[in-house]
Amino acid sequence: MPRFGFTLHATDGTARTGTIATPRGEIRTPAFMPVGTAATVKGMLPESVRATGADILLGNTYHLMLRPGAERIERLGGLHRFMNWERPILTDSGGFQVMSLADLRKLTEEGVTFRSHIDGSRHTLTPERSMEIQRALGSDIVMAFDECPALPADRDRIAGSMRLSMRWARRSRDAFGDRPGHALFGIVQGGLERDLRTDSAEALREIGFDGYAIGGLAVGEGQAAMFDCLDYAPGLLPQDRPRYLMGVGKPDDIVGAVARGVDMMDCVLPSRSGRTGQAWTRRGQVNIKNARHADDPRPLDEDCTCPACRGYSRAYLHHVFRAGEMISGMLLTWHNLHYYQQIMAGMREAIAAGRFDEWQAAFHALRAEGDIDPV
Ligand SMILES: [Zn+2]
Repeated sequence: MPRFGFTLHATDGTARTGTIATPRGEIRTPAFMPVGTAATVKGMLPESVRATGADILLGNTYHLMLRPGAERIERLGGLHRFMNWERPILTDSGGFQVMSLADLRKLTEEGVTFRSHIDGSRHTLTPERSMEIQRALGSDIVMAFDECPALPADRDRIAGSMRLSMRWARRSRDAFGDRPGHALFGIVQGGLERDLRTDSAEALREIGFDGYAIGGLAVGEGQAAMFDCLDYAPGLLPQDRPRYLMGVGKPDDIVGAVARGVDMMDCVLPSRSGRTGQAWTRRGQVNIKNARHADDPRPLDEDCTCPACRGYSRAYLHHVFRAGEMISGMLLTWHNLHYYQQIMAGMREAIAAGRFDEWQAAFHALRAEGDIDPV
């Protein structure tokens, strides 16, 4: 079986472009991973997600273990077969979502015991159980089990949590074992404390992972604080492994993260926004609910090649949102995911050509102009 591997093709400043090879196909980086929480990217067929340009999806361990259950998915042929997506899948470890979604959590050295937010049933997640679940799902990129506090949090809490996560990272590595063709990523923690981030990165490098994630950001600290951290955090990680920034973000967050050396990102934003009438375009955010679109025969974005922009007017998108029609969320989600993948493709090309600064200037200039004037 082909092994997991990362090849760096070009750098421009601290920005990088490369390819992650997996037995289920290549992932072009910088990569954006749409989120398929409950074994679906809501409102999208898998072939439509692929048509937007996505090479990889993210699945959530916490949601899938509760419903329909990891062992059930395994009996049904694994997550790829179950959801009809044959390309790579990354699964999170469940740690972050247990802490943010589950009821009555109890955190110990061993792991986390909690009650399901769906039916109140009792479950335990440990590094070993998280590895077992992600193996049952058939995940291509498995995340180490970790824990992180919401920011702001006091330094002692952040330090204690980071050290616990590093002990769990070791246990995750041991439990993962040797699985050719599958990758295990460690997660750097430490909040906004540079010395803690440095200690965390060193601890992970000593254990050794196939890739490294930067966790514990995009949890309420704001873009300026996140960028301050990203000014040094990617540089703490090995050059020859992919770097994944978890849970980010808005288009300008993504561009800023790539400029600082990040290779992979995921976020629910493009799909979630699509269901609430929010579109992301080259000119910024468009609220399709707004009455100004009711008589507008123009597409969301004249230059966008997605089905929502090629076939439908702003007036139609406004109407189906107001009427509560399912196609509203489907079309806006498609547009948003398409736009996000266009950003990634544009950045990959610009970095390879050594003109990423120019690309960023054009990206910010068009956004600053804002949406087209009303009809
Ligand atoms: Zn579009």
